[in-house]
Amino acid sequence: MPKTIIVSNRLPVKLTETDGQFKLAPSEGGLATGLGSIYKQGDNIWIGWPGHEVADDDVKKKVTAQLNEQSLLPVFLTQEEVSQYYEGFSNEVLWPVFHYYASTYANYQQSNWDFYKRVNQKFKDEVIAHAEPGDTIWIHDYQLLLLPDLVRHEIPDISIGFFLHIPFPSYEMFRLIPWRAELMNGILGADLIGFHTYDDTRHFINAATRILPVNSSANIITKGDRTIVAEAFPIGIDDKKYTSLPSEPEVKKNIRLIKDTFGKQKLVLSVDRLDYSKGILQRLQAFEYLLEHYPEAKEKITFYMIVVPSRDTVPQYAHLREQIDKQVGNINATHRTMEWTPIHYFYRSFPLEMLSALYTTADVCLITPMRDGMNLVSKEYIASRINNDGVLILSEMAGASKELIDALIVNPNNTEEVAKTIIKAAYMPLDEQRTRMKQMRQVVAKFNVSHWVKVFMDKLTEVKQLQRSMQTRYVAYGTEQSIINRYSKTNKRIIFLDYDGTLVDFVSNIEQAHPDEELYALFEQLTDDPDNRVVLVSGRRHEHLEKWFGKGKGDIDMIAEHGAWIKRKGASWHRLPGLSARWKEDIRPVLETFVDRTPGTFIEEKSFSLVWHYRKAQKGLGELRAGELMNNLKYLATDKGLQLLPGNKVVEVKNVEINKGRAAMMLIDNTEYDFIMALGDDYTDEDIFRALPESAITIKIGNNVSAAKFYLRTPQEARKLLKNMTEAGVPAQLTK
Ligand code: UDP
Repeated sequence: MPKTIIVSNRLPVKLTETDGQFKLAPSEGGLATGLGSIYKQGDNIWIGWPGHEVADDDVKKKVTAQLNEQSLLPVFLTQEEVSQYYEGFSNEVLWPVFHYYASTYANYQQSNWDFYKRVNQKFKDEVIAHAEPGDTIWIHDYQLLLLPDLVRHEIPDISIGFFLHIPFPSYEMFRLIPWRAELMNGILGADLIGFHTYDDTRHFINAATRILPVNSSANIITKGDRTIVAEAFPIGIDDKKYTSLPSEPEVKKNIRLIKDTFGKQKLVLSVDRLDYSKGILQRLQAFEYLLEHYPEAKEKITFYMIVVPSRDTVPQYAHLREQIDKQVGNINATHRTMEWTPIHYFYRSFPLEMLSALYTTADVCLITPMRDGMNLVSKEYIASRINNDGVLILSEMAGASKELIDALIVNPNNTEEVAKTIIKAAYMPLDEQRTRMKQMRQVVAKFNVSHWVKVFMDKLTEVKQLQRSMQTRYVAYGTEQSIINRYSKTNKRIIFLDYDGTLVDFVSNIEQAHPDEELYALFEQLTDDPDNRVVLVSGRRHEHLEKWFGKGKGDIDMIAEHGAWIKRKGASWHRLPGLSARWKEDIRPVLETFVDRTPGTFIEEKSFSLVWHYRKAQKGLGELRAGELMNNLKYLATDKGLQLLPGNKVVEVKNVEINKGRAAMMLIDNTEYDFIMALGDDYTDEDIFRALPESAITIKIGNNVSAAKFYLRTPQEARKLLKNMTEAGVPAQLTK
């Protein structure tokens, strides 16, 4: 029975030690709840670090046995591993870079990187010890970026999902990491890669295509022969827990206590872990600004600020804590009155019953991180507002702001805006509060943590199916044999071959894709058999094809410029009748403006088409401009009876009547062929695949979505298939 293995840095339990005795307590985190529905079922397991150093082997055994009872498998880490892999690399390289704090906090130490690799290997060993083909592995977060590829290497066909719980930064940030290529390669070992937001996904795909030789089309990345999907799956919370807590006696007692303490004052709440990404100092600055500029708010608005201790043995965090202490002290000393303290500041963690009571009573929840993957506190506040009142102020830099659009969204760096928004929130009419809150409560309830788990796992299954369907379409040995069989048994054959990308690789200089000796030899082999009719179908100019495959060099039929020109074997070139090229005068100036604005691009002119080439343009810019160009020409093209073809690093504009498929059918011209085959790699070849009769063998080179029945990966594979076809049936000693 296939199982699911969850892997994360920490196990979902707390391991504590008192007088040498180890105790396990459940962790109340949302992830533990969400994934609980998985790892507690059947043979499923969760692999991770128990969060506490255990040195003694006997104790390790005991702890392992205790954990195993709950389907948990520990990866024990030494003090040194924790300090270098976890604190050194994960928290001093990945955390700051991914939160856009590279220049202030990132510390790139080789030895930390070595430990990061070593600990990822250690996790891999544990996974491999338990994984079997057919299992599903779900790896979590930035501490384990190398793990997907390490596992893939050992069990190539296994299903691997990866989810990043923190933001994925723009390429400009990510590229700063000295080991970016290894990290990227590690993540791409997964089949499905999940992020909180669409922006993270976009950043990731962009970084992947710039750092590694991989291709992307929308959210699908192709790495060698593997298809990988990247997508946004915003994480949710256990909403029911937060909606039911306010009716519990302990929470009710706390609510009464808070109400008695603060009376009619408007309570503004914030809850964060101690971290520079949370914008705590900037938030204090905004509250100070409010007190200075809105004196009427004094004694009416109170700020209840909880900072949960985190990493405070690290100097940067200790320093941040000191700054917060100081700033809170200053503000309170300046603005406090006999009856009122502006900021109630707590540096500690709170029991859930108190947290829930605060969420339920606070008039405003103020969440203003500088950068946050999602921010769960904002969702917990929403879920706790069972009366549909209360106002959420949310930083636009938090992933949650993409979903909770009815919050008051602010830029956390804008002190004045944040101050004004607190005032607006504190005095917002109840009607408006309710309208906004109801909308947000629906979002939080629907997209809860179980929903998140379900959609991620469903998508992973879908990706695996997509890969399998690609595999069955791949011309592997079996398919090749049946093609060869059919070839040998037939004697009236027509074979359509596209040139660029199908028989030869793409090169930056279009003139350089000159046919090589091997290709000429292949054509000779194919045309030597009188039963074969070979048709070269290309988008290139007919003069060009004539030079390469004309008299004495090819003995073939040719279709040039996507069907505008046709040459039958032994005859001369003739043009599709009735075509006009007058439209070029209107289109060329538009293309010229794109050449002027985009260095490295140029226009190629053919009899009935104009092509804008951007292969040599700066990566990313070419694609951006291509989209812009297509948009610009959309209406003009329809008006003039033209079609726009986005190709491989080109945009081609041509007469709508020109079509490779139509040209191919003209050559077939009612002749009864018993073997029809077509090989092509791009958009324009799809017309042939669609036009040919059902019995035709159509093969796409490259594994993008296609109407072709089969696919091959490279021009080299295409050549090999053709060669094997021609050599079939010929006695071995006669083949070259
Ligand atoms: N939290 C906690 N103890 C506290 C206060 C908060 O465990 O005293 C929880 C809170 O309920 C939330 C989590 O800490 O689930 C913080 O998650 P968030 O996504 O807001 O920030 P992160 O710390 O993951 O960056």
